[in-house]
Amino acid sequence: MKAEIITIGDELLIGQTVDTNSAWMGQALSSLGFDIHRKTSVHDKREDILGILSDASSRSDVVLITGGLGPTSDDITKNTLCEFFNTKLVLDLRVLGMIESMMSKRGFPMNENNRKQAEVPESCTVLTNAAGTAPGMWFEKNGTVFVSMPGVPSEMKYIMNEHVIPALGKRFTSQVIVHKNIMTFGTPEARLAEILTDFEAGLPRCIKLAYLPSSGIIKLRLTATGDNREELLKLTGEQVCKLYETIPQFIYGEDEETLEMAVGRLLRDKNLTLCTAESCTGGNISHKITSVPGSSDYYRGSVIAYANDIKTSVLGVDPILIEREGAVSESVAAAMAEGARNLMKTDFAVATTGIAGPAGGTQLKPVGTIWIAVSRGSGTITEKHAFTTDRVTNITRFTYAALNLLRKQIIST
Ligand code: AMP
Ligand code: MG
Repeated sequence: MKAEIITIGDELLIGQTVDTNSAWMGQALSSLGFDIHRKTSVHDKREDILGILSDASSRSDVVLITGGLGPTSDDITKNTLCEFFNTKLVLDLRVLGMIESMMSKRGFPMNENNRKQAEVPESCTVLTNAAGTAPGMWFEKNGTVFVSMPGVPSEMKYIMNEHVIPALGKRFTSQVIVHKNIMTFGTPEARLAEILTDFEAGLPRCIKLAYLPSSGIIKLRLTATGDNREELLKLTGEQVCKLYETIPQFIYGEDEETLEMAVGRLLRDKNLTLCTAESCTGGNISHKITSVPGSSDYYRGSVIAYANDIKTSVLGVDPILIEREGAVSESVAAAMAEGARNLMKTDFAVATTGIAGPAGGTQLKPVGTIWIAVSRGSGTITEKHAFTTDRVTNITRFTYAALNLLRKQIIST
């Protein structure tokens, strides 16, 4: 079954908005067993949209489209779809009612632009959108399914999850694809691939392994293809067990689990609490931890001790230590973690002190150097890392390294 994706919007072509929709939809279609053979971004321009719709109809079974459904004059997708499907706009009272109730909940009056969003092409099946005002639209022409959705990613995902994925799953009985992700941290991709050489060689023919690295996290994705879901799940499960036997020290979770989710899961299971003392990460660890729903069960708070005098006055780090060893040092990281744990009365504290760059590096402590400390009742452990020269990358890497050291310490408690 062939599928293609069309994303519409001038902003996508000039690089102002990154086209994340097609990546998300590609994954969704792939999980349904579709062969996604093309994706195209086009301007908000009638001829361009008509051209790509016509090309797509001749070569694809399913065409997913996002963008250009806003209420403003630059969004022309709906009128162009009417032209392509030879139909006209009609007011949909159910959609109008939904928009009216959404606007009244938000405390905004309805205006003409809102009302225009309740107009839909007469020949389409309307896909309601509880995440926004523009509904999705399902068309069929010469055996090809076309689905048009808003460009706003959260709205597209709502319509996909609520309507499109279930409907496509029912309609197209294609081959079964099973994905399983094993999340790893702590070893570079090239080294991991070396360790997994025999594992890869021993994979059944129907299972493929992909390495998907991002800021030190490597997602190992197993993709099994066949026609029997139960059988594929069993085979994939066996390979997952093998991975746990081969690289237990690097696996921190499965599927879409993040390091901060894994840390939270472990703390909750063991009924332990955590606080943070952050210098170079500037609150990013705290942000990650509190992005996980329910983190108030185990997370107490953070001191962002960016300046040295905050390290001393709030966290109680000895100024002589900073003078003698420098703020970026093993002993200062340890003292920060211990000070935070005393201050916030938690089972665990994690602290970071490093040089994110671009300035501030020295020969002994180049940009990218970080000391991390994790303090708990039985003592404090420290770790040093040397990362890159880019500030934003460093902050992300520092954060993950700290979360991972913390994770390992919680496991060993
Ligand atoms: P539109 O439906 O064209 O009014 O799009 C609304 C907003 O969604 C735009 O301002 C973009 O920020 C965002 N958007 C549109 N297309 C995409 C896309 N393919 N990927 C990610 N965001 C998008
Ligand atoms: Mg647009």
